[in-house]
Amino acid sequence: LLRIRGLRKSFGAHTVLHGIDLDVPRGGVTVLLGPSGSGKSTLLRCINRLEKPDAGYVALGEEIIGYRPGPAAGGRVRVLRELREREITRQRARIGMVFQQFNLFPHLTVLENLIEAPVALRQASKSQAAATARELLERVGLAGRESAYPKQLSGGQQQRVAIARALALKPELLLFDEPTSALDPELVGEVLRVIRDLAGGGMSMIVVTHEIGFAREVADTVVFLDGGRVLESGRPEDVLGGATHERTRAFLEAVL
Ligand code: ATP
Ligand code: MG
Repeated sequence: LLRIRGLRKSFGAHTVLHGIDLDVPRGGVTVLLGPSGSGKSTLLRCINRLEKPDAGYVALGEEIIGYRPGPAAGGRVRVLRELREREITRQRARIGMVFQQFNLFPHLTVLENLIEAPVALRQASKSQAAATARELLERVGLAGRESAYPKQLSGGQQQRVAIARALALKPELLLFDEPTSALDPELVGEVLRVIRDLAGGGMSMIVVTHEIGFAREVADTVVFLDGGRVLESGRPEDVLGGATHERTRAFLEAVL
């Protein structure tokens, strides 16, 4: 489903991603681990084009994010044309993102938060979007809270609304950036449960998290990022059990 090749990103003189290669199969759950500053958030932001990579590419299915194939030049070589922002927005809608700090619109109700994007992108009429939103709220255990404002909800409830909002655009891939690290410990479980249910339902996702138990249980692949490079990638039992790199072992000892 997702194919990343040679992805590089620098901020000024500081290279944050040094050529990342990564594959996420349809229906697969990839957990991304790594120390602070290793480039996890930057990688997610490059995937849905909140950041523009300096080199390499991200392909979702047949589409390269940010580009479309231009005319074939000289026989087989296809020239890529850069897309305009409006077209990138359409591509981005195929990829949902859930942030650490929920990022809900504070002045909108729960229901309004969920119908805003599908209506703005003309994916659905207001009443269709509202019907979908109610189904999604039920799925994340928040039926009946549609008129609440974000600040009236707990952190765990807000994060579940944020997940429902990401699902409202019917994405093919969901990205989670430390979805539980802003939550009080007793609220972590309810959010992980929703993510686990989505994984069980076949949703493709990349999850940045330090919840090692969750990774062990839900991930198909665990990727360990260090200093902007993939240091280790494999099945959870291999990466979490018998990490081959000293850096990975040291990191795992620190978070366990
Ligand atoms: P954390 O676990 O703390 O969230 P991370 O692995 O998500 O860390 P990133 O947020 O991707 O790491 O940051 C990687 C590096 O890139 C850091 O050194 C950070 O300071 C730098 N960086 C990230 N975004 C920017 C930006 N917009 N401008 C300049 N530097 C940035
Ligand atoms: Mg981060």
